[in-house]
Amino acid sequence: MKYVGAHVSAAGGVENAPLNAAKLDANAFAFFTKNQRQWNAKPLTEASISAFKANCKAHGFKPEQILPHDSYLINLGHPETEPLEKSRAAFIDELQRCEQLGLVYLNFHPGSHLRKISEDDCIAKIAESINIALQQTTGVTAVIENTAGQGSNMGYRFEHLASIIEQVDDKNRVGVCLDTCHAFAAGYDLRTTESCEAVFNEFSHVVGFDYLCGMHLNDSKGDFDSRLDRHHSLGQGHIGLDLFKFIMGDERFDEIPLVLETIDETIWQDEIQMLRQFSLAS
Ligand SMILES: [Zn+2]
Ligand SMILES: [Zn+2]
Repeated sequence: MKYVGAHVSAAGGVENAPLNAAKLDANAFAFFTKNQRQWNAKPLTEASISAFKANCKAHGFKPEQILPHDSYLINLGHPETEPLEKSRAAFIDELQRCEQLGLVYLNFHPGSHLRKISEDDCIAKIAESINIALQQTTGVTAVIENTAGQGSNMGYRFEHLASIIEQVDDKNRVGVCLDTCHAFAAGYDLRTTESCEAVFNEFSHVVGFDYLCGMHLNDSKGDFDSRLDRHHSLGQGHIGLDLFKFIMGDERFDEIPLVLETIDETIWQDEIQMLRQFSLAS
């Protein structure tokens, strides 16, 4: 079974996210549990938490079909003490919000070295941040997203993801989310069935599908190996549709949220339909 959806709005309260996903005929979704561009957020209210759970139940969304995303401000690999502490506190708060909502995943971007420390030191800080956060929470898996390698962002090689996982103590509560646009922009060719086979075999060897907790399905406005994080609608960017046919026809991508972060939300419902067609055709 494929779980397909989009990163939907939670404007007006987290309880609206499952409603917005249901309108798309999605059976997966992503959302922010707080404003992604602000450090501070009011705690979730009891009313909001119970409405979220009720709406998920009413529309058939189980926790493993939901992939919440953390704030863009958080940098778990920050080279300086004070901002690192701030990021770690905010990350723990995000995990706790997921816990309160009964969710099992929190998707996040690993972090950036800001050209002040080495890549290895940055990866060590990210892993340490995850260890600290997991010790203070229960039940939620930290899901590391691969990046396009824009700026000084870590996570653009599968080896980075593997190295972070290696340094995390509780391997049962760490996983990865692969963003197809980011992988392509970082130099993983996904334009043909053959290249997809090669890239995902490499992923299988370097990280392992056991750790795959979700995917972001995006085409890319940026060119191959451009290191640019610019999403596009499926089939309209430089990747093309073969990748998405490959994913929908491959059972290694079953039972994890497959989430659109494509740029035109007015066609999300059509994109979801198209993806479902691909899985029927395979
Ligand atoms: Zn993404
Ligand atoms: Zn992106």
